[in-house]
Amino acid sequence: MQRTAIVTGGTRGIGQAISLALHAAGHRVVAVYHSNTDAARAFSDANGIAVFQWDVSDFEACRHGIGKVAETLGPIDILVNNAGITDDAMLHRMSPEQWWKVINTNLGSMFNMSHHVIHGMRERGFGRIINISSINGEKGQLGQANYSAAKAGILGFTKALALESARKNVTVNAIAPGYCDTAMVAEVPPEVLKSIVEDIPVGRLGTPADVGRMVAFLADDAAGFITGATFNVNGGQYME
Ligand code: NDP
Repeated sequence: MQRTAIVTGGTRGIGQAISLALHAAGHRVVAVYHSNTDAARAFSDANGIAVFQWDVSDFEACRHGIGKVAETLGPIDILVNNAGITDDAMLHRMSPEQWWKVINTNLGSMFNMSHHVIHGMRERGFGRIINISSINGEKGQLGQANYSAAKAGILGFTKALALESARKNVTVNAIAPGYCDTAMVAEVPPEVLKSIVEDIPVGRLGTPADVGRMVAFLADDAAGFITGATFNVNGGQYME
């Protein structure tokens, strides 16, 4: 069945692949971005996917943006909370600004976005919320106390909301990607990246499409018995 989906950070990297996977599955897709308008326009023009601009760390901006999407495309059935940033530093050098920016964008956005779609999903008796965490939220990472805390927080948020929503046919799941070939990973110094790839059992970085396929699966109407779960898409780099 065709559904309406919002993908935050859906114009670049992993989010772009998620938008494309949901589009290919036949859904109406809106991709949200923050500041890179050129990339968003190019993506929209090339793929016929609508793009909207707002800051997912801003509760009111999310309310306003989701309202505009609903006016244009109808109520939101699928929400993919993918937008995320890093701002790395060892904790003893990390500023409060670095801490809160990463917490608010990666974890605050879960509340800001989900709050505004959950009422409608509950009323209509259908919803899919898919939250993008990270391997580094599961195992921790040097220089990423802010990011690891936010990504671990997403896993608790996912389980709590899954419990609250289960009887309403709204599923809530998390995906924890390993290192994928995106701009975020391009910032990792080459010698560090080499040792990361050596540590991945399948012997390569993930691709954004690896994650996109998992999202399309979880978003499907047929995935209604899967909720509160975390799916590792990490080439075997971390197993729990
Ligand atoms: P990218 O940096 O390639 O893309 C980030 C996207 O998020 C962009 O579309 C960006 O918009 C958007 N975005 C950033 N901040 C905001 C904001 N405040 N409001 C709205 N949109 C925003 O990221 P990746 O594709 O690498 O990562 C996607 C997700 O996957 C993130 O949550 C990341 O933590 C997670 N992840 C990534 C891994 C990887 O290896 N890349 C590994 C594990 C997890 P704009 O273009 O306007 O800046």
